[in-house]
Amino acid sequence: GKGLAVFTSGGDSQGMNAAVRAVVRMGIYLGCKVFFIREGYQGMVDGGDNIVEANWSSVSCIIHRGGTVIGSARCMEFREREGRKRAAKNLVTRGISNLCVIGGDGSLTGANLFKEEWADLLKELVKDGEITLEQSEKYKHLHIVGLVGSIDNDFCGTDMTIGTDTALHRIIESIDAIASTAYSHQRTFIMEVMGRHCGYLALVAAMCSEADYVFIPEWPPEQDWPNKLCKKLIQERLTGQRLNIIIVAEGALDRNGDPITAEKVRQVVVEKLQQDTRITVLGHVQRGGNPSAFDRVLGCRMGAEAVMALVEATPETEACVVTLDGNQAVRLPLMECVRRTKAVAQAMADKNWDLAVQLRGKG
Ligand code: ADP
Repeated sequence: GKGLAVFTSGGDSQGMNAAVRAVVRMGIYLGCKVFFIREGYQGMVDGGDNIVEANWSSVSCIIHRGGTVIGSARCMEFREREGRKRAAKNLVTRGISNLCVIGGDGSLTGANLFKEEWADLLKELVKDGEITLEQSEKYKHLHIVGLVGSIDNDFCGTDMTIGTDTALHRIIESIDAIASTAYSHQRTFIMEVMGRHCGYLALVAAMCSEADYVFIPEWPPEQDWPNKLCKKLIQERLTGQRLNIIIVAEGALDRNGDPITAEKVRQVVVEKLQQDTRITVLGHVQRGGNPSAFDRVLGCRMGAEAVMALVEATPETEACVVTLDGNQAVRLPLMECVRRTKAVAQAMADKNWDLAVQLRGKG
């Protein structure tokens, strides 16, 4: 059977374990020899017992766990050609030429580069006497499928990334908890949630919690936002509301590109309205805890589809990413999605927010 390896890379997210489990089991079911690579690209470069064969039961009892049980890491060596050459040797000597990478756009970019260089890397390894000519012939095509694990929902080409739904659950639980105490004391609460380039978590959390105001990177407010904010807060209190909730995405900006931080918002509310105002920064709580049913199912479906894509791959098959499109698992060209994701970040850096939203919405 085909040699296939699965690894998780970059930031962790809930539901990655469900995806790992599905890749292993679907792979075994379809007759592949499946390996784990521990600690992302670092394990691939280091080899040794970072790359181990998986069996049916080695993925039992992980579907309900947050994070990734096979570890994730950032790896400088894989950014260098020499590191990727070592990784190639570690794969070929184990008979692996199919990879399922679960990570964000950085991890997927690295995977694509690896695929492009693969033939040359193998040639050099033969010349160096690290692998045989026979091995280089047998494994001359590297097949890559990506799955997007990220709590931010910041990747173009998918309706939801693996981990977003669970992060939303964590956020909403926290807002509900805070709302009850805010209600009792007639306080204003400012909640900072994750999302450096993407306000999805903040926006959806705001809708689900009847928040009074939300600041997201894609929709920077006009310079007079402090007045508008205060007007809205007063209006709500006048109608009898006993608390105010304001959600701030960590990447929120104003039209000048200056950050709108939770602290800045607090100062405005305290100075202008003298309201009792508290800040909660949720931080890594959002990445924590058990994955939701949605993320477990999403991980399972994406993982199974990834293996099908690898099994069906021909020498001409481009690297693809398995995504969710209207509740269908679809395969899209990996680099096109990565390029668009990067273009969104660039458009935001250029303060071209309309373009950013347009680019993200497409597909
Ligand atoms: P994410 O996958 O969550 O976006 P990173 O951007 O940190 O996270 O990428 C994770 C790892 O992927 C990096 O530590 C590095 O090993 C690898 N990687 C990222 N970008 C590249 C690249 N352009 N070339 C080679 N490897 C890369």
